[in-house]
Amino acid sequence: MSTTPRLLEGQKALVTGANSGIGAAVALALAHAGAAVGINFFSGSDAAEDVVSRIRADGGEAVALQADVADEVEVKRLFDAIDSAFGRIDIVVANAGLQKDAAITEMTLAQWQGVIDVNLTGQFLCMREAVRRFMAQPVPPGSRSRGKIVSMSSVHQRIPWAGHANYAASKGGVMLLMRSVAQEVAAQGIRVNAIAPGAIKTDINTEAWDTPEAEQALLKLIPYGRVGEPDDVARAAVWLASDESDYVTGTTLFIDGGMSLYPAFRDNG
Ligand code: BGC
Repeated sequence: MSTTPRLLEGQKALVTGANSGIGAAVALALAHAGAAVGINFFSGSDAAEDVVSRIRADGGEAVALQADVADEVEVKRLFDAIDSAFGRIDIVVANAGLQKDAAITEMTLAQWQGVIDVNLTGQFLCMREAVRRFMAQPVPPGSRSRGKIVSMSSVHQRIPWAGHANYAASKGGVMLLMRSVAQEVAAQGIRVNAIAPGAIKTDINTEAWDTPEAEQALLKLIPYGRVGEPDDVARAAVWLASDESDYVTGTTLFIDGGMSLYPAFRDNG
C-alpha cells in the first residue's frame, strides 16, 4: 500500500461496512496510517475478522464490531463498543451502503426503503452519534480538529441513474446531509466531508467490469481509461481524515477518473 504512513498516529477510527470493498480498503489504509480502527459489519463476520487480521499483521490495532447502521439503538451500541475498545473516537467513515436496483415502475417500497434506511438514515445516525461524542471530548493530541467525518457518497450524488432511483436519491441526500452538518459543526472544530467514488472494482458492481465486454462498455464512461481500485478511494479517505486537509470541510472529493465530467461530450456532443 502506498499511503503515506503515520499521518493518523494514535487516532481512533470507526469505518462502517468495513468487511468488504471500499470500506475494507479504507480501514486498512487508516490503520496503516496509525489509527486504531473499528471494523463495523452487518453480516459477514469472517470477512470482518480477516480485515482485523490483516491490520494486526501490518502492526496495527483493530476490532470487529457487528451492528446495523440503520438501527438507532445498534448505532449507539456500536459507538459504546468503540469507546470500550479505544477510549475515544476521532474519525468516523460512514461507508456502509447498498444497492437494490429496479426500474421505477417495478421498484417496491421495500427496495426504496431498504436503500434509504442504510445509505441515508444510516449516515444520519452515525454522524449524529459521532458529533455528540466529538463534542464531549477535548481535541485529541496530534490533531488540529476535534473530530473528522468522512461520508461515502457516489458520483450518483450528481449523475442521475436510470434503474437506480433509490440509490441516486440516497446519495443526493447524503450530499446535503454532509454539507448541512459540516456547516453546523465547523465552529466546534469538527470537519465533515464526502468522497464520491465512481466505478470502483468491488462486489457491488462486479457485473459492470468482470468481463472484457463489460469493462470496455464501462470505460466509455471513464475518461481516465481505467476502472478504479478500492485503494484509490482509501488514499483520499486518509487525507480527509488527517491534518493534511485541515482547512477542508463541506467538500465532496470525486474519485472517479473523470466519470462526472460528462464524457459523452468528449466528441463535441
Ligand atoms: C455504484 C456502482 C457504480 C458506480 C458508477 C457507485 O456508486 O455503487 O455500482 O459502478 O457508482 O456508476
